[in-house]
Amino acid sequence: MSLPMSSKNLEIKLYDTLTREKRVFTPLDPARVRMYVCGPTVYDFAHIGNARPVIVFDVLFRLLRHIYGDAHVTYVRNITDVDDKINVRAAERGIAIRELTEETYKNFKSDVEALGCLPPTVEPRATEHIEEMKVLIERLVKSGHAYVAEDHVLFSVPSMPEYGKLSGRPLDEMIAGARVEVASYKKDPQDFVLWKPSKPGEPAWPSPAGIKTQGRPGWHIECSAMAWKHLGETFDIHGGGIDLVFPHNENEIAQSRCAFHTGVMANYWMHNGFLQVEGDKMSKSVGNFVTIHELLKDWPGEVVRLCMLQTHYRQPINWTVVGLREAQKTLDQWYELTADMVPGYLCADTLDALADDFNTPKAFAAMHELRGEAVKGAKPAAACLKASAQLIGLLRNTTAEWKSFRPASIAVDEAKVLSLIEARNAARKAKDFKESDLIRDELAAMGVVLKDSKDGTTWEIAR
Ligand code: AMP
Ligand code: ZN
Repeated sequence: MSLPMSSKNLEIKLYDTLTREKRVFTPLDPARVRMYVCGPTVYDFAHIGNARPVIVFDVLFRLLRHIYGDAHVTYVRNITDVDDKINVRAAERGIAIRELTEETYKNFKSDVEALGCLPPTVEPRATEHIEEMKVLIERLVKSGHAYVAEDHVLFSVPSMPEYGKLSGRPLDEMIAGARVEVASYKKDPQDFVLWKPSKPGEPAWPSPAGIKTQGRPGWHIECSAMAWKHLGETFDIHGGGIDLVFPHNENEIAQSRCAFHTGVMANYWMHNGFLQVEGDKMSKSVGNFVTIHELLKDWPGEVVRLCMLQTHYRQPINWTVVGLREAQKTLDQWYELTADMVPGYLCADTLDALADDFNTPKAFAAMHELRGEAVKGAKPAAACLKASAQLIGLLRNTTAEWKSFRPASIAVDEAKVLSLIEARNAARKAKDFKESDLIRDELAAMGVVLKDSKDGTTWEIAR
C-alpha cells in the first residue's frame, strides 16, 4: 500500500479546458516547467472564493516541484494593481492608489501564507509591465489584429478565426455578451479593449500606437504581457477560476497567439470550479461574504486548506461550517497519530491520485486507509500519512504547535453546545419559550449563535 516510489518517472495527467480532455502532462522543457495563474485584483480583502485557485494551484506547484525538482518549476501569479475597482475604492477611502494596492497586497500575502501556500516564483505587478503591454499592443496593431479608435486600442476579434475555441461559446452568444457594453468606436461588437484613455485622476501612462493622450491598459493585456515576460511566448500551464474562461482567458489567448504568431499560448488550461457559501452564491448583499482574513480568526489555516481540497478542484464547492468542523477533527487526529514522527515514504496511492488530474478526494481516501492502519498502531503507516499530508502542504506544524493554536471556534465545548441545543429544542416542542430563550441566552454568552431552519438548528461562533 505505501511503497517507496520513484517520482521522477511519475506520469501526471491534467484536464485541459481547451481540448476538453485529460492528457498526459509533457512539459516543453522538464528543466523549466512553467505555470501562470491569474492572481488577485488588489482593492480589498480576498474572499474565500479567491482562496480556491491559490490553494489548488499551490498543491499543483508542490506536486510539480516534487516530480521535476524545486529549482525546475517556475510559478508566476500576477497582481492586478490597475483596475476601475481600485480607482473607485481609493477615491472612497481618500487614499493614494499605491497605498491601497500595497496594503491589500500585504493582507493577501499574509492570508495565503497562513493557508500554507508557498510564495510563487514570481509575483509580477501589472503596473510594472506597462512597457511589455505596449510592445504587444504595437505588434498587434502592426499585424492588423488591433486598431486605434477614439484614443482606444481595440483587438479585432474577426481578425482571429480561431477566437472562441477555449470557451466553446457560439458566436451569437459572444456577440450578445459583448453588446452589453457596445461602444461607438468598436468596429465589431466583440472587439475588446487593449488600451483606453485615462480620465483625470486615474493612473495614466504615455500611450502606444501614436495616441497623443495618456492612457491605461485593459485587464486582459496585462496577463499576456506578464506571462510573456516571465515565461516566454508559449508555456506549459495556465490556471485560474472557471469564471475567467470567457472573456479573460479567451482574450489572453487571442492577444498572445496573434502577437507571437504561435499555435498555442499555454499547452494546458486548468480551471477551478466555483465556490458557494452554505448553498448560495457569495455576495455582500446576501451577507454570506467570507473573507480569508475573517475566517482565519476562527479556524487554523490548515483546516481551511484541507476543507478546500476535500472537493475535486473542477467541481463546484459548497463551503460550510460543517465541512470546516470535519476538517478540524481530521487534522486533530492526524496530528495525534503522527506526533513527533519523521515522515516516511510517500504513499503510492496518494501520489497516483494526485497524478490523475489532481484528484485530492481520492488522495484523502488513500490517506484515510493509512490513518486506519495507524490507529491500529502501525507506525510506518503513520509516517507515510505524514509524508503524504506534507506533500499537500498539511501537517507542517509540530503536534505541540497544533494543539496550542485554538481559535475561538474550537475553544467552545462542542458536546455542551449540542446538549444545550437539544434541551432548547425540547423546550420549544413543549412550548416553554421562556426556557428556550434562557438556553439561547446561555449559548450566546458562550459566543454561540444559533440558526433555525426547516432542517433543524445549526450553530456558529459569533464574530
Ligand atoms: P478576482 O480578484 O475576482 O479577479 O479573482 C481572483 C481569482 O479568484 C480568479 O482566479 C477567480 O477565478 C477566482 N475566484 C473568484 N471568485 C471565486 C469563487 N467564488 N470561487 C472560485 N474561484 C473564484
Ligand atoms: Zn489573467
